[in-house]
Amino acid sequence: MKEYDVTIIGLGPTGGTLANLIALQGFSVLILEREKNFYPLPRAVHFDDEIMRVFQTIGITKDFLKHTIINKGTKFVNSKGKIVLDWPRPRTVTENGWYPSYRFNQPDLEKQLRKKLNKYNNVQIKQNSEVNKIKNFKDYVKINFKNVINNNLEEIKSKYVVGCDGANSITRSQMNTKMDNLGFTQKWAVVDLILKKEKKNLPDRTIQFSNSKQPATYCRNVGKRRRWEFAIRNNQSEKKILSNSYIWNFLKPWLNNNEAFIERKTIYTFKSAISRKWKKGRFFIAGDAAHLMPPFMGQGMCAGIRDVSNLAWKIAKCLRSKHSEKLLKTYQSERFSNVKEYVETTMRMGEFVNAVGSDQITDNISSANDGTKSMQSIKPKLGQGLGNKTDKSRGKIFPQFKTRNGYCLDEKFSKKPILLLSPKIKIKISKKLNSTNSKNYMGLSNYFEISNSKAIIVRPDRFILNSCSFSENLNNFIKKNLFILT
Ligand SMILES: Cc1cc2nc3c(=O)[nH]c(=O)nc-3n(C[C@H](O)[C@H](O)[C@H](O)COP(=O)(O)OP(=O)(O)OC[C@H]3O[C@@H](n4cnc5c(N)ncnc54)[C@H](O)[C@@H]3O)c2cc1C
Repeated sequence: MKEYDVTIIGLGPTGGTLANLIALQGFSVLILEREKNFYPLPRAVHFDDEIMRVFQTIGITKDFLKHTIINKGTKFVNSKGKIVLDWPRPRTVTENGWYPSYRFNQPDLEKQLRKKLNKYNNVQIKQNSEVNKIKNFKDYVKINFKNVINNNLEEIKSKYVVGCDGANSITRSQMNTKMDNLGFTQKWAVVDLILKKEKKNLPDRTIQFSNSKQPATYCRNVGKRRRWEFAIRNNQSEKKILSNSYIWNFLKPWLNNNEAFIERKTIYTFKSAISRKWKKGRFFIAGDAAHLMPPFMGQGMCAGIRDVSNLAWKIAKCLRSKHSEKLLKTYQSERFSNVKEYVETTMRMGEFVNAVGSDQITDNISSANDGTKSMQSIKPKLGQGLGNKTDKSRGKIFPQFKTRNGYCLDEKFSKKPILLLSPKIKIKISKKLNSTNSKNYMGLSNYFEISNSKAIIVRPDRFILNSCSFSENLNNFIKKNLFILT
């Protein structure tokens, strides 16, 4: 029976990102994907700076950037056409080293992820392969799958398995766990259009039409792509809603069928739910398999990419050193509260778009003199897990620092955590530890000052594991974190 280090079920954006992160670490990866082709219906069009940093880690940004535009933000407009809330996305680079928000077309990303995977000798992709059974053993997992073309059955072994198999995850059902419904369920039609020529009077921001009669969203996407989404009632005929005549009639205030063509259209039931369990023995779930949220904030796929960024280096650590239940259990505990905050914020946004909720979508809403309210994006910390709970820096994202000639510190800790010392501290660090000279990186000395620390350990997912204050003994600090550092 063939054996792999990591088997990934599902090659959507979550599985594609995870496969790249594991392959980068040098371990063997098998990807089992049921479909031959890309998912044909409209899906993600937005991601943020944190996610672009993950794409930077796996090395796809150079090509992928050509398929993105910087997003200018979202305006919420009431039924009288008045702007009632603004969510601007400044055109300045954030601490993650990228713009706060981008727009893209999901298949373009999936193509880039696969293109990169094809460059690795340690990655095997088996399409038309539907997984139907996953069973834990002490040191490995057995997986059974079927070729959906010829019905041939196969069985393989893998040290770890991650189900990135979407909303109806077989991996989740094999865990015998439940999805907890957080309360938002609503049917929406989603229509992707391609403009035949430029149409200057269409907004270049996302507009959320906060309107109890017809909640709707307009998205300014890459190039000539535009999207409209609108809520529908349960008793409306889906066939009628998706008819061209209904869609063009809905679009009348903005454009007509001489100005654009419909690329794809569908009806989704937007849901908000989180799985109770994300791990069983040596198998895990990530992405839509573990959580679902409505798309109002454009964060569903982003959450899946955060999951695998958290999990990949922990699995790699277990493969490199030894299996650690304690380490792997932190995957769910760190990710759960983070994703829950996104789901709940998105639900409040959905209620506001339905004009049944207040504009208090986040804690971060300010009012200008003219009464216009403005909100800022949320950036939740990691939940409890690795590191010292009392350390204020622990669980926060670590900024991306560069040298004067543009060399990124990130490149030094994509595989193993890094120990960084304040330039004020002069001690010799064992060669076994991944460490670097902090003084070469612009702004890093200042970061040590502001965070009042003399040493910081940063994880490969770019989050801070722990920081060492001036009152702590540095050798003890290193000793306490030795398992993770080596
Ligand atoms: C209208 C809409 C707009 C959205 N907009 C955004 C946005 O702007 N930003 C954002 O971040 N998110 C957005 N999302 C959410 C985003 O599209 C999803 O979160 C994302 O696609 C989930 O990725 P995934 O890889 O976890 O799952 P999927 O993309 O669903 O991939 C799962 C894969 O697993 C395969 N599979 C399933 N079962 C098996 C099996 N038994 N064996 C083998 N393979 C299997 C499937 O074929 C599929 O390829 C949007 C969603 C919708 C519907």
